[in-house]
Amino acid sequence: MEPVEIIILVFSCALGACMGSFVNAAALRAAKKESFVRGRSKCPECGKTLRWFELIPVVSWLALRGRCRGCKARISPRYPLAEVACALPAALCFIRYRFSLMTPLAFCVCVLLLAVALTDMETMEIPGVLILALIPFAAGAVWAQPDVTLLGRGIGLAAVSVPMLALALIISGAFGERDIELMAVCGFLLGWQNTLLAFFLAVLTGGGYAMTLMLRGKKGRGEHMAFGPHLCAGVTVAMLFGKEIISGYLGLFGL
Ligand SMILES: [Zn+2]
Repeated sequence: MEPVEIIILVFSCALGACMGSFVNAAALRAAKKESFVRGRSKCPECGKTLRWFELIPVVSWLALRGRCRGCKARISPRYPLAEVACALPAALCFIRYRFSLMTPLAFCVCVLLLAVALTDMETMEIPGVLILALIPFAAGAVWAQPDVTLLGRGIGLAAVSVPMLALALIISGAFGERDIELMAVCGFLLGWQNTLLAFFLAVLTGGGYAMTLMLRGKKGRGEHMAFGPHLCAGVTVAMLFGKEIISGYLGLFGL
């Protein structure tokens, strides 16, 4: 690997971690209906304003051993996890798409998907503005990734969203309205093959998660679970590794 590539990787991780930190804080504040533009970061327990060295993604949490410097209250591992959940895809975007327009585009999509996942986990709702924010990137992919045909994108737009809509009409509440919109926009972004893969992965992880919850008796049948985070994870994986996963899977059957 060239030195310049290592520098870009380190920079991507740092930028990703900072974005992850911001998105996580924004999701938490949105859930509490607080303004997420104003107000400095503070300890949720004692309200102490955090100094700059307590705000370094991941590093601060590890250095403080997951506790507030003032009141020693435990700081949720969700903070460093959200930061890693953004730093890792940021680095992978560069590894996958190298020096192309798809790298910054895919990075922005990863950040938006993390925002969707975190707000959905917190509030069981996906803000419409986040879906709208994804549209320019899905449109931009037409130029940034010309190897996915416009027809493939058009089919992708409907491939998962239409069956989801049909299911939601038959079984009320099967999927949220926003989940369906998310898969329409991401379907256009990914093209149909990767969209099917993204949905398959989401059903796999979402189904596995729902089973664990039911077996542990935490949730009954028919109760709602946020499906958005699983869709977001599926879309991210498909966007970054869809090609390899699909060709590897077909290779199993000698195709
Ligand atoms: Zn504190």
